[in-house]
Amino acid sequence: MARVIVVGDGPAGLSAALFLARSDHDVIVYGQDETAMHYALLRNYLGVDEIDGTDFQERARAQVADYDVPVDEREVERVERDGDGFTVTVAGGDRDRADYVILAGGKAAQRLAEQVGAERADGRVVVDTEYATGVDGLYAVGRVARPDRSQAIISAGAGATAALDVLAREAGRAVTDWDTPDD
Ligand SMILES: Cc1cc2nc3c(=O)[nH]c(=O)nc-3n(C[C@H](O)[C@H](O)[C@H](O)COP(=O)(O)OP(=O)(O)OC[C@H]3O[C@@H](n4cnc5c(N)ncnc54)[C@H](O)[C@@H]3O)c2cc1C
Repeated sequence: MARVIVVGDGPAGLSAALFLARSDHDVIVYGQDETAMHYALLRNYLGVDEIDGTDFQERARAQVADYDVPVDEREVERVERDGDGFTVTVAGGDRDRADYVILAGGKAAQRLAEQVGAERADGRVVVDTEYATGVDGLYAVGRVARPDRSQAIISAGAGATAALDVLAREAGRAVTDWDTPDD
């Protein structure tokens, strides 16, 4: 079981947390619910006719809570490499440790990526197709990686993509997260 710290509680971070928790990994989300979603009225999220952004966030947080993922309201102030993993320092000075860190804190989190050595170019954190940065085990999803492609469904998809990459790395093979209806 891997420990994963998700920095950010918008659609990107909560989506990553959901996928990881469903596969029984140890996940914590840091975030203050200060997402731009509270200004949005979604009419472009496939499968949902219309939903107020605050309602979306409440549902997403409840969905993640159902998998016992803690959401800690302290701000993450620093991310550092620590052996094979990472140490994260939160407001107040407490430290947390993880095997993987997923940065999902919007544009504000770009400085955390830089601190830990991820490349930044053209106002974005550089990531590959799985949203992995050049720092092994560090991912950047949503607005932190694509500030000029800011849509809720893109952020949620990026979080899920990064989570599946973590799951695949841990399993040593490709992983899917599929449910089917009961008969
Ligand atoms: C007025 C307005 C209307 C919009 N309308 C739509 C729309 O109709 N449809 C649509 O698809 N999109 C819309 N958007 C865009 C949508 O809100 C964003 O695409 C979405 O919020 C991005 O999600 P994210 O998870 O990438 O980042 P964010 O939503 O920015 O979430 C980041 C979260 O991380 C937290 N955080 C940041 N730094 C730290 C840290 N250091 N430690 C801990 N937590 C941290 C923040 O508090 C925040 O809660 C709209 C945006 C605005 C402003």
